[in-house]
Amino acid sequence: MLTKTNIRQRITAVFLCIFLVITVPYGGSAVAADEPKDDFSTKTLETINTFDYYSHSISNLSEDPLTFGEISALMKNYGTYIGSPGMSDDLYKEAMEQQWEDCTVRDKDFEPISFDITAAYTYNSLINILYMLSRIDGVNLYKIGKSTKGRPLYAIEVDIPSKKEKDTVLLTGTIHARETAGCTYIIKQLVDLLQDKSKKAKKVLSCTRFVAVPCVNPDGRDGVCFYTENYTYKSNELWKATSDGTDLNRNFPGLSWGQIAKGYEKSDYINTSPKKLYYPGPYAGSAPETRAMMKFLYHYIVLEKASIYIDYHQQGRVMYVEKPWCSATQRELCSDAAEYFKTILNKGQKKSSSNKYILEKEEKEYGLNGVGSTMTDYACSIANGSKFSRAYGFNVYCTKKQEYPLIMIPHIDKTKKNLLEAPNPNLITFTFEIGWGKKALGYSDKTRKTLADEYKNYYFSEVLYELSNYAYELRQ
Ligand SMILES: [Zn+2]
Repeated sequence: MLTKTNIRQRITAVFLCIFLVITVPYGGSAVAADEPKDDFSTKTLETINTFDYYSHSISNLSEDPLTFGEISALMKNYGTYIGSPGMSDDLYKEAMEQQWEDCTVRDKDFEPISFDITAAYTYNSLINILYMLSRIDGVNLYKIGKSTKGRPLYAIEVDIPSKKEKDTVLLTGTIHARETAGCTYIIKQLVDLLQDKSKKAKKVLSCTRFVAVPCVNPDGRDGVCFYTENYTYKSNELWKATSDGTDLNRNFPGLSWGQIAKGYEKSDYINTSPKKLYYPGPYAGSAPETRAMMKFLYHYIVLEKASIYIDYHQQGRVMYVEKPWCSATQRELCSDAAEYFKTILNKGQKKSSSNKYILEKEEKEYGLNGVGSTMTDYACSIANGSKFSRAYGFNVYCTKKQEYPLIMIPHIDKTKKNLLEAPNPNLITFTFEIGWGKKALGYSDKTRKTLADEYKNYYFSEVLYELSNYAYELRQ
């Protein structure tokens, strides 16, 4: 016979099982995805799998890919062109034509989720949580591509049914292997927001669509976390790159791909062979992770006009703002927003504290001294109207008549050229560099504890609520 105690024990056992499935990391495997009920179960998927992103995003001005020598000759008046070649037209096309797969779980009820920053999760057990979240009506989960080692990459789209007009906010994390906080924080923020029953949370979810790729570099991330010795360099430096030594955050074919403008020196921060960091890859877009993110960013920034995009990095308690080659308006918008979020993060710190988050402007010559393009560089490129050049193999600014690589236009506001219109001129983008010092990097027991303290002490729990408010106010 079932007594109350019996029932209570059973309920406790069921909850314990659920809790274990979610929090026990090492044996955790992703819940099997339910088969999508039809090919295009969401508006996003329908667009992603039918829209002609390739034709929409290329410059039609130069048809034939130039040789490396021809590009150098063409650019000699402006500077030099170094490093590896750009991306091939075929590969670019493949990137923009890749299909997404619906992984949303539609026929199971949502069960409460507990997510503990101090616990150790494998990539699969983190993805398991995204699957669980996708049981909520309006939360969609997509496979958007693959990692170097073939792991699926996921985007989660939180688009709770609402009659209100929504702002789109993008979040990405852990493009750098040792910077585990991005992935952890984004999932924690989503898990908590989606289970918050308050009026405030309801309002946030009714007027904001959050779309996140919490972990851009799962191979590197799990390598650093669980095979640490293989992902450690001399003097205990942990890896930033993918498993094959490509720094994804230099691999994008944005405006700043491998160019050195006249009068600039090549950056020391670029390696010419695979390393734990700063190797941009054998050519732009060489990493499958990059290609997946290119389509993701193009869709949400150019087509869906996202209003804010934040890439979570780590470390130094810094927020990087202002790409030198963005428009003045966009630079101002980014700085104002970052200033606002800096205040939120720092509100628990004493006035004179040296532990505060600070804003840092990106170097003036950034992108003109041979470095590859970062993910936010690429985001700003496409927001400002750059197109993929089939001749150069990276993005360029265009007029109706000509293509201009960045070294010909170091500053977008100073050019007199009649550039094509920017599709999302007010996009706000900045990066969080979470935490301070080596103790915040990686995924040891101590690190996870440090990152949990950072999350709490710097009010990262409020970030999504504030992002929603900020985007909403901006639109009014
Ligand atoms: Zn980073």
